[in-house]
Amino acid sequence: MIEPEHMCKKCILLDGSLGVSVNASTGLCNYCEDPEYKTPSWWKTQITEEMRREGLKDWQQAIKRAQSRRGKHKYDCIVGYSGGKDSTALLWKMVNEYNLNPLAVTIDSGFIPETAFENVRDTLQKIHVDHVIIDSAKETFPKLYKWMFLHQDSEDRCLTTSMCEACSDLVHALVVKEALKQNIELILFGYSPDEIRRYFYEIPQHEIIEEWMPQFFWEDPFTKGDRSHFITQEEVKNHILPRILLPYHVVDYEEDKIVELVESKNLVKKGNSSTLKTSCHIIMAASFYDLNRYGIVPYALQFSELIRQDPTVRKKWVITMKQISPLIKQGKFNEQGFNFALEKMGMTKSQLSDLIQKQLDRDPNREKIIRNVKLFTSQRRRKRN
Ligand SMILES: [Zn+2]
Repeated sequence: MIEPEHMCKKCILLDGSLGVSVNASTGLCNYCEDPEYKTPSWWKTQITEEMRREGLKDWQQAIKRAQSRRGKHKYDCIVGYSGGKDSTALLWKMVNEYNLNPLAVTIDSGFIPETAFENVRDTLQKIHVDHVIIDSAKETFPKLYKWMFLHQDSEDRCLTTSMCEACSDLVHALVVKEALKQNIELILFGYSPDEIRRYFYEIPQHEIIEEWMPQFFWEDPFTKGDRSHFITQEEVKNHILPRILLPYHVVDYEEDKIVELVESKNLVKKGNSSTLKTSCHIIMAASFYDLNRYGIVPYALQFSELIRQDPTVRKKWVITMKQISPLIKQGKFNEQGFNFALEKMGMTKSQLSDLIQKQLDRDPNREKIIRNVKLFTSQRRRKRN
């Protein structure tokens, strides 16, 4: 496999992109040379077997507790239900393996692909649970996204990462609101083990109140209405705060088995379990921004961390980068989704390109980034060895 000399020999980071430099004599990037390098506090790198074991024990107790309380409340828990394969499988398991009565909650941001909704409809014909779609923040999501595009100003952190975080905070807040309304004490999200980012297994309860709302929500163009989607101290005064658990972080998780489950039970149509078909449209616009701005696919830092933990997956990620980069660069990875997202935010592709250009021109690594953008996206192929 041909790899450029300015790609780290151990992970997939590129010299000059996302604040990374590759040491010419060792061939290693800053992160591979020094595990402490810029390790963000939100990125859980050290997940030990013991943490997993402890989590699993807690999960089994949480299930037992929910089972022992069956019938006391209308619902035993909430399952955050996006229509993707992971949350679909989680919903199925709660009903069929654990014999619980969950309320399925879908947050409609306005950016969810039709395939996800199709999956929701298909699944709910097979699993008989109550389901609510919350679309009360449909006006807030595009404002949030647009603000983040306009204010992205970092040399080492991609827009996609920051945006997914801010967006999931809003999603979590909306789900907690529903739990408070319905007196439900347990919320489950089907984040897969590689979606660890800031949290491992449990989202701390103290973060529920106000901490989730970004500071910029106090400024124009955000209104009281936008702020009202987050949880206030007042609202939780007479309530028990729900626990928010991410069970896939501690139970045995195998992607193939999840796909097999949702397809064999006819919960979703064959092929519709693909993450590419169910992930949110805004990711398409944010990836375009990141690749052209930073010269590397978003999440490269996270993928690299996974590679450091398990070097055998490196090849897979290098191949993936080579396949998707040329498409993302042009906004053609999922062109429909890309255009949809821009239109919803009231932006054009050329406005977006101007934004990128302005930020890029100020970046001391500008030349290297431009070289990196070309690396995986140029049409001409070097001779294979
Ligand atoms: Zn590295």
